[in-house]
Amino acid sequence: MTSAFRSTRRPTRSAAGSDSDSGSDSVPILAFHAVERGPGPLCFPPERFAALVARLRRRGVVALTAGDAARRLANGDPLPERPVVFTFDDAYVSVHDQALPILADAGYPGTVFAVTGRLGGINDWDPPGSAGHGLCVMSAVQLVALHQAGWEIGGHSHNHRRLVGLSEPEVRREIASSSEYLQTLLGCPVPCFAYPFGEMSPMVRRVAAESHDACFAIGAACAGRHSPADAIERVEAWYLRTSWSVEHLHSGVGTAHLAARRVSRRVGRQVRRFTAAVHQR
Ligand SMILES: [Zn+2]
Repeated sequence: MTSAFRSTRRPTRSAAGSDSDSGSDSVPILAFHAVERGPGPLCFPPERFAALVARLRRRGVVALTAGDAARRLANGDPLPERPVVFTFDDAYVSVHDQALPILADAGYPGTVFAVTGRLGGINDWDPPGSAGHGLCVMSAVQLVALHQAGWEIGGHSHNHRRLVGLSEPEVRREIASSSEYLQTLLGCPVPCFAYPFGEMSPMVRRVAAESHDACFAIGAACAGRHSPADAIERVEAWYLRTSWSVEHLHSGVGTAHLAARRVSRRVGRQVRRFTAAVHQR
């Protein structure tokens, strides 16, 4: 871990006086990818994104960057009554073109996790024919523009390879080259990292945590005071397309609903894979 987040952990409950509020000790960290028309869950339509942001704004929700939220959770510092974090993996051009102005209008910051070896290129890590393949990745200039607009830039590896299954030196190279590139480009430390594909192993977690204060996974739960700093849970934003999900985002019932949706999607995927395998026999 780098030094920026290091602090003696305080008791779980904050001294903010809002302990009884369910939002004060946990943060929904939303994981988006592209904000453009296309197949979900990778693509989130811009008009729906604008509606989601407007709804959160009306509810008095306060947005933090991923690093700020992780720092407050780790240090026991107070959180807003209704916090949220907008994160965007892969740094697609549509995040610069669509999400940036929508969030700026709301006064919300965002966090983008960049694949440094693909800046100005395309998603070529997802297989041809899949939803993500061919999506345009923003340039280094656009990434700097986000940073100058108050966004946080985090690492997402250099080539978006599946880190689980690589040797430790390869994992180290993938993570270090991304981190060094961003630090040179932005001229500041880069304390946050998101695992490519949300996949991690104990070795991958250890290596990522050596050079980052906060490492983010994908799940269906809000991040809390006890979230491990090297595997902080995020909520797949695709599940927030309905107004019901948004209204219940800061309640236990909403989190349970998201978890159920994620499990049913995973089971559905397994069934489809199994069925395809049977048909190939
Ligand atoms: Zn990714």
